[in-house]
Amino acid sequence: MQLLVTLVGKFHMAVPRHHMAKGKQLRRRSHLALKGSVLTKCSHCSKMIMPHQVCKFCGFYKGREVLNVLAKELKKREKRTNARK
Ligand SMILES: [Zn+2]
Repeated sequence: MQLLVTLVGKFHMAVPRHHMAKGKQLRRRSHLALKGSVLTKCSHCSKMIMPHQVCKFCGFYKGREVLNVLAKELKKREKRTNARK
């Protein structure tokens, strides 16, 4: 019995002080929904892309090419064909 009392004394459960009406709970949670991701148009190929990031379709960022998409695709294909052998 003494052991039980000491154990109960150690582990406190959260006990709500007041009853929360369902309406209040739902009103609080009305702001918790996730928002959709924001997309912008690529200035070069006008596809929808994530803002402040290199376009993965054409490799352009801020009007200049920073990523060679074709070379990357070729490398990927080469890797795939090597894996089959
Ligand atoms: Zn683009």
